[in-house]
Amino acid sequence: MRALVLHGFGKTTVEEVPDPVPGPDEVVIDVACVQPSVTECMLIAGDPVAMHEVLAARLAAGPTRFGGHEFAGVISTPGPGFPAGTRVTAVETAACGTCAACRRDRPDACPSPGVLGFTRPGAFAERVAVPAKSVVAVPDGITASQAAGVQPLAGALHGHAIAEVRPGDSVLILGAGVMGVLHTQVARHGGAGQIIVTGRSPAKRRLARQAGADLVVDAAQDVQAAVLAATGGIGADVVFETAGGMPGAGLAGTSTLDLAARCVRRGGRIVMVAVLPREAPAPLGLLRERSVALLHPRSGAGGYSPGGGAFEQALRLVRRGDVDVDCLVSHRLEGMDALPKALDITGNKAAHGALGPAQVTIGAWDQA
Ligand SMILES: [Zn+2]
Repeated sequence: MRALVLHGFGKTTVEEVPDPVPGPDEVVIDVACVQPSVTECMLIAGDPVAMHEVLAARLAAGPTRFGGHEFAGVISTPGPGFPAGTRVTAVETAACGTCAACRRDRPDACPSPGVLGFTRPGAFAERVAVPAKSVVAVPDGITASQAAGVQPLAGALHGHAIAEVRPGDSVLILGAGVMGVLHTQVARHGGAGQIIVTGRSPAKRRLARQAGADLVVDAAQDVQAAVLAATGGIGADVVFETAGGMPGAGLAGTSTLDLAARCVRRGGRIVMVAVLPREAPAPLGLLRERSVALLHPRSGAGGYSPGGGAFEQALRLVRRGDVDVDCLVSHRLEGMDALPKALDITGNKAAHGALGPAQVTIGAWDQA
């Protein structure tokens, strides 16, 4: 089969590789649609985020497969509970099941979880092997494009739960990118009160308005003043920080955490959705002084991270029409050879006028 291979930071090719061989309790999925995540684009470009050191060490040893955890496809080699022909997506992270943490029922503390597209080859390929326990069936009425886009929505549902948004809570969402727009829609359906969203481009601000924001603020304006004016001088109960990160990837650096700390109410909560460099500066004194809780969506496996249940709920919301994931897809590409271009578009959205990740159609979804 053909797959994306990484030969060095920023150097990708699409080439012939061996077909995946499923292990016990694994299935093989024919990939129908895949989209890169911004974090994957940053890692492939060599930015020092998340698992950069691990990827650097692997590349030093030679070419490697990397990326492809937001996808949908059709089971071709069946496994427990999943007959051939089932339309599916998958949870990207699975606890190892055998380490000390896993044996103590703490899968979220597993130091070496399997991660699709990272510790094992992902869906930047025609076929991908996945543990059956990670597979999520996709109900009828959902397109491959929608199913490939539910992983970030599951993350947004999870972030909303972490923040313990109470009925009527005012919610400020910094950034109107993919996570910002998804958090806006989830807040709208999750009992939030006033929803305020900031964004830099007019197109994204328009999207935030369509997604259900009550107030949309140009990020270039005085956001703090706008938030204080809209909340009776108190500040937002909950802030989702989705804008920060590498400026090279079109993100807002680390100043947005400082902004969040100034816009949240005393005793409020900030959820750090954005992926920051390890040594990002943080206004800890201000957070301490104002008794603000800084929360992080759980990553890793099991426990409290977004698992099969969050994926199923994300699919349910899309099927009901409660959440629109199609509005985020502005660039649709065809075929394996388009993968490098999809990475370029997703990693440089502003330059390409993209609203969300570029999706690539690879194989069939509607089975005859
Ligand atoms: Zn483990």
